[in-house]
Amino acid sequence: MSNTSNSGEMVECPNLAGDPVLKPVTSRKSILGSGLPIIRHLPSRDQRLIGPWCFLDHIGPTRLAEDNGVDVGTHPHIGLQTVTWLFEGALLHKDSLGYEQEIRPGQLNLMTAGHGICHSEESPDGFSGPMHGLQFWIALPAEHEDTEPAFAHHTNLPRWNQDGADITLVVGELAGYRSPARVFSPLTGADILAEQACTLTLPVPATFELGLCINEGSANVDGETLEAGELYYLGCGRHNLTLELDAQSRVMLLGGEPLGQPVLLWWNFVGRDQARLEDAVADWEQWPNERFGDVSAYQGKPLKAPALDAKVKLK
Ligand code: MN
Repeated sequence: MSNTSNSGEMVECPNLAGDPVLKPVTSRKSILGSGLPIIRHLPSRDQRLIGPWCFLDHIGPTRLAEDNGVDVGTHPHIGLQTVTWLFEGALLHKDSLGYEQEIRPGQLNLMTAGHGICHSEESPDGFSGPMHGLQFWIALPAEHEDTEPAFAHHTNLPRWNQDGADITLVVGELAGYRSPARVFSPLTGADILAEQACTLTLPVPATFELGLCINEGSANVDGETLEAGELYYLGCGRHNLTLELDAQSRVMLLGGEPLGQPVLLWWNFVGRDQARLEDAVADWEQWPNERFGDVSAYQGKPLKAPALDAKVKLK
């Protein structure tokens, strides 16, 4: 997906690691493209990062008509990985490496932008019906921000049942499991589904900053009720996380070690300094070019980068 913000907002993401807390993250509702409702959880004015996770869109839940599907035109990324994870529906990814990959629930699309990539995201031809999912971005650590772009589709992810909850480890590590998806810093991203009410305690690294995105139903953590459509920041320093899940609940546990580096987010670009983001904007304005390649399989118009606001000065 593409960042719809064109307000000229430069988001700096300082390292906010601290102690365990539990607080809701202020989120914004938005419409992507021609009518896809999303909740933008990250970045938020009160929570820029959770570990290396720098962007989180909760897509839907909604119902798409055949003539009004998702159509996010060709757009670039640098310095990050995109994680696409669906609960219902389907998306078709096309990128400048030549990949065309339809994704369905239970599958992971992981795109590593690194030095530069561009892609489009559409509903598959003829698709109609429910659409519900998440798209996350993971900021790459400085030493990997220029890595070669890559794309991977994973259908064989660690899945287990714990205390009545079905857990799928989408990326990273959790409770002794490790996802095969390639990531560049210690992190976790796990989908947790409870058909029946249950209580589970997961071991978590105390060095991980954690968040919990409530996608369906409701949950209880630290004596607080957590509601669907909300993201909660859990802080650092936990050794175990106890989740009480109500019946028909689905939550995503995300987090990781803070990067301990500045992370700047402009439109669809992540970098360590403004010059790097300016270079990416300039390169996209001169597209097509070698840096971002081309998505020849996509028929629609590419997206334009908002102009970098010269008044934005970084600390
Ligand atoms: Mn995108």
